[in-house]
Amino acid sequence: MSEQNRVLNRCAPGVANLTPYVPGKPIAELERELGISGSIKLASNENPLGCSPKALEAMRATLGEVSRYPDGAGFALRQALAEKHAADPAGVTLGNGSNDVLDMIARVFLYPGAESLFSQYAFAVYPISSQAVGADLKMAPARDYGHDLEAMAEMMSDQTRVIWIANPNNPTGTWLREAELRAFVEAVPAEVICVVDEAYVEYVAEPDYPDASRWLADFPNLIVTRTFSKAYGLAGLRVGYGLSHPAVADLLNRVRQPFNVDALAQAAALAALDDPEFIRRSVAVNAQGMQQLLAGFQALGLNSIPSAGNFIAVDLGQDAAPIDQALLREGCITRPIGGYGLPHHLRVSIGLAEENARFLEALKTVLGR
Ligand SMILES: *Cc1c(COP(=O)(O)O)cnc(C)c1O
Repeated sequence: MSEQNRVLNRCAPGVANLTPYVPGKPIAELERELGISGSIKLASNENPLGCSPKALEAMRATLGEVSRYPDGAGFALRQALAEKHAADPAGVTLGNGSNDVLDMIARVFLYPGAESLFSQYAFAVYPISSQAVGADLKMAPARDYGHDLEAMAEMMSDQTRVIWIANPNNPTGTWLREAELRAFVEAVPAEVICVVDEAYVEYVAEPDYPDASRWLADFPNLIVTRTFSKAYGLAGLRVGYGLSHPAVADLLNRVRQPFNVDALAQAAALAALDDPEFIRRSVAVNAQGMQQLLAGFQALGLNSIPSAGNFIAVDLGQDAAPIDQALLREGCITRPIGGYGLPHHLRVSIGLAEENARFLEALKTVLGR
């Protein structure tokens, strides 16, 4: 650190050693870098169908209002979400993406000396938001790439303040079953926040997959997070939410930026809730695409981690980074996950049938099979 920049020595302790989240690059930026065009992006678990036409229409109808501040309380959207979940609107916390809600949770319940408990291979935002506020990070070892709830329970201590569970998890796609997750949440002490992140809930077809939002009345320390970024196809708008006991939502709202969800996002999300057919179609396309990729991996002799989401981590049996680079030159943007400690795996979002086919063809070429 240079003499002139002594102020850098004085940033918050957690921030000094923080490694920021590395997002997937936008298509346009990569194409510019590589001098290519016509690429497909299967890197950020976005909905390949786009979003509901009702959401687009609602945004168009709202364009004339963008000179005004949005409804800071998000009244209509929170009301609709409360109805969807048979919950109290006072227990709904809107976020600029669910990432924003996760960050609010860290800012409210974590601080230096408090412990934040999460699993190996779990979504990267948990440690990032926790470290930013100076909390102690506790990472439980994974089992079969997924959350090992026994290991997590063993790592709970008197200092534990927040436990994060992604169900399904990103980047592994692993999921927890109803009986095991329910028993775990029951065992979490009442003074410890338990977050169940359900970003991919719409895609899960497993019969014993639990919708933890149904448990809110039983656990005042439970926060369930959801997003409009994945199945609803509104990732670019940034809107998600937390469901919790109203008293917990009250704390979260104290640190929430007053206008964190913009007017277009509120209008689009509200309209998207009114189009269950779009979600059904998205889930069907995803299920078919998942089968297509699994069959393609099998033909190439590749194993993958069973996934309940709209993406899958495939084991290339070798360093995935150079393969990812070679795929880029073939016009396929995917996601190496070496940063998660899975250097041989490549995370691929499920695309449209023709995109999946093109990716499998490119993979075959790049692997020389
Ligand atoms: C994508 C994702 C999120 C959040 O996405 P937002 O766009 O911020 O709503 C949260 N959790 C997991 C596990 C995710 O994969």
